[in-house]
Amino acid sequence: MPNLDIHLFACLKDNYGVLIRDAEQDVTASIDAPDAAAVTKALDDKGWRLTHIFTTHHHNDHTGGNLALKEQTGCTIVGPRAEASRIPGLDRAVGEGDEVPFGQFPVQVLETPGHTLGHISYHIPRAGVAFVGDTLFTLGCGRVFEGSYEMMWSSLKKLMRLPAKTMIYSGHEYTLANAKFAISVDPDNVALQRRVAEIDELRAKGAPTVPTQLSAELDTNPFLRAHAAGIRERLKLGGAADWKVFAELRERKNKA
Ligand code: ZN
Ligand code: FE
Repeated sequence: MPNLDIHLFACLKDNYGVLIRDAEQDVTASIDAPDAAAVTKALDDKGWRLTHIFTTHHHNDHTGGNLALKEQTGCTIVGPRAEASRIPGLDRAVGEGDEVPFGQFPVQVLETPGHTLGHISYHIPRAGVAFVGDTLFTLGCGRVFEGSYEMMWSSLKKLMRLPAKTMIYSGHEYTLANAKFAISVDPDNVALQRRVAEIDELRAKGAPTVPTQLSAELDTNPFLRAHAAGIRERLKLGGAADWKVFAELRERKNKA
């Protein structure tokens, strides 16, 4: 079974950069490129040579390093077809169902619009990992800037259908604020209470709360729990459609 090396590092204000590498095939990808200098330093720390960038969406804190890194390394930039004109240096535009070769680890593209209209996520079934940008966060989800709540909810549902063991890498460390909000809408959830205690400990040590296992998110992330009776009761949305419960949660979080 081949091994995919993964290196996560904090950069900019609260972004995460991730490098993935198939050593046998000598390919290394940066998931998004928040900041060229930080990605270059991470590559140097590991002694890895960049061959690909996988872009999730057009925001500058995910694409700001594209051109400088491409100039330095000649890497291939893969990104969302629906935002092609806004992804600096894009070489290969991809959409739902596309598979991008990466060493021994084919990368599957999922369209997950809502945060931006063309946002995509990358799933590597063979490594059990998914890179979800600003769609899903540990105990939270991205702000719905360009799409509708219904659209974002169906993107989250798509991620919810990945294998439960999948490790989810998101683009930011927002977990303390997310945990505070999660507890406010789902206070009786024992799994969530336990998780918040773990998260407080991790953050107190300065340790990341990314990645997170999808199974843990399904049990504790309120934005994936629009069906949960306790949350519906608290929001007084007993019979509403799941996406409406999701929309109410997202609006409350915006004001929190
Ligand atoms: Zn973003
Ligand atoms: Fe972002």
